[in-house]
Amino acid sequence: MTTDPPRPPEPHRVVIVGAGFGGLEATYRLAGAPVSITLIDRRNHHLFQPLLYQVATAALATSEIAWPIRYLLRGRSEVTTLFATVSGIDAQTKRVMLEDGGTVAYDTLVLATGARHAYFGHDEWEPFAPGLKTLEDATTLRRRILVAFERAERETDPQRRAALLTFVIIGAGPTGVELAGTIAELARDTLPPDFRNIDTHDARVVLIEAGPRVLAGFPEDLSAYAQRSLEDLGVEVVLGMAVTECSAEGVVYGDNRLEAKTLIWAAGVRASRAAEWLGAPSDRAGRLEVLPDLTVPGHSDIFAIGDTVVVAGPDGKPVPGIAPAAKQQGRYVAASIKARLRGEVPGPFRYKHSGSLAQIGKRKAVIDFGRIKLRGALAWWIWGIAHIYFLIGLRNRLSVALSWLWIYARDQRVARLITQGSSKVGR
Ligand SMILES: Cc1cc2nc3c(=O)[nH]c(=O)nc-3n(C[C@H](O)[C@H](O)[C@H](O)COP(=O)(O)OP(=O)(O)OC[C@H]3O[C@@H](n4cnc5c(N)ncnc54)[C@H](O)[C@@H]3O)c2cc1C
Repeated sequence: MTTDPPRPPEPHRVVIVGAGFGGLEATYRLAGAPVSITLIDRRNHHLFQPLLYQVATAALATSEIAWPIRYLLRGRSEVTTLFATVSGIDAQTKRVMLEDGGTVAYDTLVLATGARHAYFGHDEWEPFAPGLKTLEDATTLRRRILVAFERAERETDPQRRAALLTFVIIGAGPTGVELAGTIAELARDTLPPDFRNIDTHDARVVLIEAGPRVLAGFPEDLSAYAQRSLEDLGVEVVLGMAVTECSAEGVVYGDNRLEAKTLIWAAGVRASRAAEWLGAPSDRAGRLEVLPDLTVPGHSDIFAIGDTVVVAGPDGKPVPGIAPAAKQQGRYVAASIKARLRGEVPGPFRYKHSGSLAQIGKRKAVIDFGRIKLRGALAWWIWGIAHIYFLIGLRNRLSVALSWLWIYARDQRVARLITQGSSKVGR
């Protein structure tokens, strides 16, 4: 009697949901481990969100800050990439459910589904004040900004023209500050020679913040410097005023009603639905409260990382929702999975803060490295080099560096394209 040779054991199945900073880092760091990986994302590309505002303000093209996930993992035969939307998790049967009805089985699951905008209970504001999270958001904002100038060029009524040339950004965190500075420069330095009937210097850029200062996460002196620099660029900074209405006509804040045709929301985020999928504990922003080893309470086989979770850092404060934190967590989870497969028990996740950076216009930035704080032109160069370093691929690094040098030297923003519609398209 002959017997079949014993089959090699099935590799441990790791399913990673989300190919953002956290999920992609976990996938990279699992290279060489005895696992098969299924990476699921509802978008076909990994997106470098920190530079989204540069697409929205016509400085960079979409392809310079996003890469097909499939392409990034083409050399990893153990990784299967699925272009699909996850709609739930059956933790009993250990399956991820897809929106189109499919399911994917896992032995270990990593949830890295990020966050989205939050309108603090006013979702009806979204059509008037879109946020910036995806490439589509960025090209939508770019279209709105450029269309506002185009319409102003043909508008004869001074009040309507003023509303078209008023740009309001709600929220003065890094994204709000970066958007405000760049739109001001677009109007002041790039666009003037292109128009005949309007002086684009007349554009108003208004940055509204409910808190007492811009860049609240930075030390006070850097916040004050950022505010002064924005004001030097002509940005009107309004502090301590919450927006109470957004509409097609403009915004209301405090007792003020400001007519503006372009509103941009940069004020709040809400975590993905990962906590809801598992009925797991979450904070007010919907962030899943993970254990110190980044597993979901009651589910030792499910990790959750990045913007969709809340976990305390070494100072007891929540780890910030930034790219380096998501990447550190992705790295930690990959190391934990490998350790578990060796029969070891991994220690808790320890976050190391590497610094905070924000750009203010094309020649200034602020950087907080803890003991070292930088501002001005030197900070801008470090900001630029750091961002180019973190981009993927030599071609993109060269192309982004060239685009920035061109803007720096010539004020030319090459991506001034109105896509997604003709001149008939409104908001
Ligand atoms: C405009 C903007 C500017 C920023 N600037 C900076 C900055 O300057 N510096 C910095 O450090 N951080 C910055 N951040 C924050 C940083 O981008 C995030 O902290 C980081 O992306 C979090 O990584 P993540 O992996 O948790 O989520 P993400 O990178 O958001 O990735 C989540 C992934 O999950 C996918 N996904 C979500 N839901 C599903 C689902 N149901 N099914 C399938 N796939 C799903 C998404 O498509 C996405 O690819 C910025 C963010 C934004 C929006």
